[in-house]
This record gives sequence, structure tokens and C-alpha cells, in this order.
Amino acid sequence: MSRSAHPAGPRHGDVLPEGHYTAPPADLNALDPRVWARTVERRADGVVAVAGLDVNELAATYGTPAYVLDEDDFRARCRAWREAFGANADVFYAGKAFLSRAVVRWLHEEGLNLDVCSGGELTTALAGGMPAERLALHGNNKSLEEIERAVAAGVGRIVLDSFQEIERVADVTRRLGVRQRVQVRVTVGVEAHTHEFIATAHEDQKFGLALADGTAAEAVRRVLARRDDGLDLVGIHSHIGSQIFDMAGFEVSARRVVGLLDAIRNEHGLELPEIDLGGGLGIAYTPEDDPSEPHEIAKTLGDIVARECDRAGLAPPRLSVEPGRAIVGPTAFTLYRVGTVKPLDGLRTYVSVDGGMSDNIRTALYDAEYSVALANRASQAPPTLIRVVGKHCESGDIVVRNAYLPADVAPGDLLAVPATGAYCRSMASNYNHTPRPPVVAVRGGTGRAIVRRETDEDLLRLDVG
Ligand SMILES: *Cc1c(COP(=O)(O)O)cnc(C)c1O
Repeated sequence: MSRSAHPAGPRHGDVLPEGHYTAPPADLNALDPRVWARTVERRADGVVAVAGLDVNELAATYGTPAYVLDEDDFRARCRAWREAFGANADVFYAGKAFLSRAVVRWLHEEGLNLDVCSGGELTTALAGGMPAERLALHGNNKSLEEIERAVAAGVGRIVLDSFQEIERVADVTRRLGVRQRVQVRVTVGVEAHTHEFIATAHEDQKFGLALADGTAAEAVRRVLARRDDGLDLVGIHSHIGSQIFDMAGFEVSARRVVGLLDAIRNEHGLELPEIDLGGGLGIAYTPEDDPSEPHEIAKTLGDIVARECDRAGLAPPRLSVEPGRAIVGPTAFTLYRVGTVKPLDGLRTYVSVDGGMSDNIRTALYDAEYSVALANRASQAPPTLIRVVGKHCESGDIVVRNAYLPADVAPGDLLAVPATGAYCRSMASNYNHTPRPPVVAVRGGTGRAIVRRETDEDLLRLDVG
């Protein structure tokens, strides 16, 4: 398994104790393929282009800021996951990473299933034409209305997250006179995040039902007790974290989930046919990150489950996984226009762009790292340490904390921040009454907005006072 090279070392652009900065990249005009969507290139004239469409044209047509998504890359990643996991497993794209009707159509065409975790995501999935059978409904507090809609639509799975929800879903299936396949979401006592995972005996978090203290086993009993009311228990679900590079957390998770399958067989004489190990696979936000390929992940997870089932004397259940970030994250960059450039003597240069924490909250929220490139031209100017900041009324409004740009970066330039496909548009806000940017899908030299830019009229439409 490949792992990132930098967990303990200095972060890109950090001030080191000796007062030196980490080295700038050798060539500021180069676009590292680890962080850029597949068809992105810097053309001979110095302008960055995606699928043959250059950023000057994109900015002229769609304005800035804009999320620019490489449709072929998105589809290729879907296929890579599908093919890596093969016919005996299912890949559910986690819609919360980014969802629109066009995305739903691509997923459908490429043979993926789809996770939704709210009524709004369910609406979008159905409006995009995804067969309900290929949907799974998640969430720790699904409303009765969301449950009723999902059951009535015929979603393939509902992932149960609490004792109350078991009764709620069973009441709905009994009332509607239908059967519903369900999984029980368990917490396995693994906290996985990026470069480390912690295996604990208990979990202090809102999701799932704990394995260690018997809560998960009790949930299974309660689901089985409502079999006659329409609940079909088909599997156990576990999701251990996000932006994970270290597969050891999945190893512990799979072992503990298989342990529960074993206990269910012993107690109820029932071999559940499905196990879902969730999502959370990491992507490269900066060139220092080195994520695994889908085929490596599929092999690792498949081997772990097969080995654990073999040890327990269970037939291997059908495996499913739920990548969100790993599919959409690398496929898009955010295109910004530089408004001001403010060199702070002896510190760094602050480069202000026309978006910020309203279109990318991840830096402020998770201390996320990003890289950035000057996109409308190449430059031979020497590197200068910069911080890309937004236009919002918060000093924490940072897009790229530490990076290098050519020292001649100036107002009017376009900057592109790669790897913003996941959890940027989907977490975007209207802070400072900022209209949210469009998502522009580019393919074969043609762009189209799959989500249009919000307008001031959109903002005022909600203001009915
Ligand atoms: C968020 C989430 C995912 C997707 O996580 P990524 O980090 O985007 O892969 C998958 N499954 C569940 C249950 C989730 O909550």
C-alpha cells in the first residue's frame, strides 16, 4: 500500500525552525498529474486548458469563481472503481461529495450505485434517473417523511442507524404493506483519518450502533423481530472515516464486522449476504499525497474480507464500498480571478481571489491543504511564498494556506486550485450573500454548466419578509 510521504514532516511552505521555508517546486509552471484532472494541461502558449478548453474562454463564458469539472476523468474513475471491484461487489458513489442530475446520469451510465443521505439528495438522484433499486439511504436522523419517500420509491437499501429508526422504518413498511432491505450501521471502534487510525473499544460519535458493548447485536435482534412487518436484514455496514491512506483501519473494521456476522449466524442461524465497508479513501490534495489506485484498494479489501470469512467458516458476503471523494475530488479545479496582491514584508504575499470560504470551507473547517497554479499564463518570475485568501469578512477565510506562485502574480490573473471536486460545491454557502459558483463540465472541447451560478435574484427569492 502506498502512503503519503509527509505526515510527520513540514507542510508545504511551512516556516521551518531554522527560519528556512520548504523548497518551492522546481518548475512553477508544471502541473503535477497527481493533483490535476486527467485532461488538464498547460498549452504551448502557457494557458491552462481542460479537455481542450482554456481557462480564459471558461472565465469569459462562465465567470469566476467557477468549479471546472473534467467529465471524462469522472467517468474514467467510475469505470476504474467498477472494474476493480468486479461483478461480485457493488460501488456506491457517495452523493454528498457532489451531486447533480448530470452526475447521476454519468453514474447510471457507468454502472455505479448511489448513496444518498437526505431527502434533497434522494430527490436529485431520482430526478437524474437513477433506478431507486440502486440507491442506498443513509443518515443518523432520517425524518419520517424521508423514510416514507424512500420506502415508497423502492430504494435498494436503508442503512439503519438507531433503535428508534428500526421501529420507524418497520412502521412505514407495515403501513405501506411492502418489504424493505435494510443494513445495520455499526461502529467498529476504529477512527481512521488520513495517516493514522486508532482502534478503540468504544466510539464517542453520533453515527451507528456500537459493536463492543452489544448495541449492534441488540439492533440486529430488533430488526429481525420486525421481519413480519417488512424488514429484510441483508447486511452490516461500517464507515470508518475520511481521507484515509492507511488501509490498516479497514483491516480492523472488516475483522470486527465479520465477527458480528459470525455471532449472528450462531445466535440466529442466519448468514447475512452483504457487508459494506463504507468510503473514506484519500486523494492527493498536494503532490506530497500518494493515494492508492482502485485496483489496489479492491484487492486489499477483498483479501481481508475473504480471509476473515474463511477463518470464521462463513461464505464471503457480497462486498460494497462507497467512495465519494476518491471519484469526484480529483476531477475538478476551482477557477478564481485575482483581485488584490498584498506583500507582507518578511512574511508572505496575500493573494485575494473573488471567492473563498463560501466555495471552499475545507481549509477553514479541516485545516485542509491545497495547491494552486497561475492558470492564464506561464511565468518565468521567481517563486514567492503566498497565501490564497478569499473576499469574506473573516481572517480565517483561507483557500490555500501555503504555496508558491510566480512573484509577478497580479490582479486580473486567473488562479486554479486543483482537487476541489468533493465537498466544495456540496458544502458551499451564501456567506456574505455570495451567490454560489457554477459547476462547469468540460468534455471534448465543449463546456456546459451542469449547475448554474446563483444570482442575486436567487438570493432575494428566498427573502420574503
Ligand atoms: C461520507 C460517507 C462516504 C463517503 O466518504 P468519502 O470520504 O467521500 O469517500 C461513504 N459512506 C458514508 C456512510 C459516508 O458517510
